[in-house]
Amino acid sequence: MKKQLALLLILIYCQSLAASEVNVYSARKEGLIKPLLDTFTNATGIAVNLVTGEADTLLKRLAVEGRNTPADILLTVDVARLVRAKDQGLLQQINSPVLTSVIPEQYRDADKQWFGLSLRARVIVYAPDRVQANDLDGYLDLAADKWHKRICVRSSANVYNQSLVAAMIAHYGLNTTERWAAGLVDNFARSPKGGDRDQIKAVAAGVCDVALVNNYYLAAMLASKQEKEVAIAKQVKLFWPDQTGPGAHVNVSGAGVLKFARHKKEAIQLLAFLVGDTAQKWYADTNHEYPINAAIESSAVLQSWGDFKADNLNLGLLGKYNAAAVLLMDRVGWK
Ligand code: FE
Repeated sequence: MKKQLALLLILIYCQSLAASEVNVYSARKEGLIKPLLDTFTNATGIAVNLVTGEADTLLKRLAVEGRNTPADILLTVDVARLVRAKDQGLLQQINSPVLTSVIPEQYRDADKQWFGLSLRARVIVYAPDRVQANDLDGYLDLAADKWHKRICVRSSANVYNQSLVAAMIAHYGLNTTERWAAGLVDNFARSPKGGDRDQIKAVAAGVCDVALVNNYYLAAMLASKQEKEVAIAKQVKLFWPDQTGPGAHVNVSGAGVLKFARHKKEAIQLLAFLVGDTAQKWYADTNHEYPINAAIESSAVLQSWGDFKADNLNLGLLGKYNAAAVLLMDRVGWK
């Protein structure tokens, strides 16, 4: 009898080991995160169940699921959605010495509810045959008359643009930002459409002369295995905006542990893994994002663009001003 009980206990113990898992809701596309999660599973034995979807859809789902949610982690590609999750009471405070020591202060939540995992810069790309680098300055300058009908940018529904406008509000206030946005819209070469890569392609094709894009898209095109992509990317150049002003706008991909997480320990372990050397090197080399971990070098393409002055605005402000940014973009007719 004793023997049977011991066997039963061993069986239960083994099952609990096998059941070690963590559930991730991710707004980041599967291909850009899954290989990392597999590496984590191989190293720790913790299975990662991944649900991917659009950020707002995932937020709605979390709200509906409430305390019954299976999710432990919310992962996004922009800070604004993390702040929204925090404001909706979906996240919990995480005290992790690893996360707070690796991630610079401006890239994580002061209340320790969300953490930046990788960095991206929103830059200007331009056609060097039609634009001189010294014609360019910063974001504000893009509203000047000299850029009339020469600018491409994606729609205001895109959170990268919302966060850029939110940063402008944080720096210059609502009125100046609204006047600027109205001027920028006036300078659009076409009604906003497509993603950031499409803006790069439009500059190369002569549809417009300058565009605003996250720089990993240009890096990915330059490092592409498709010769056509490389050839297009080579027709444009990168300009670092606002180097004599506040610096280039940066944002993070990031994550937070959900309030009702059932695998909190594993969730923290996964976040710590994501800021560790292996994951950070992967973010750099595969996604061409800037590592949040200063010990890791950025990719060769990113290094070829040199160092730049990044806006050191506290990213929490991008979430704080997101709603104001969306309304403002709507008022000025940024489609
Ligand atoms: Fe992106």
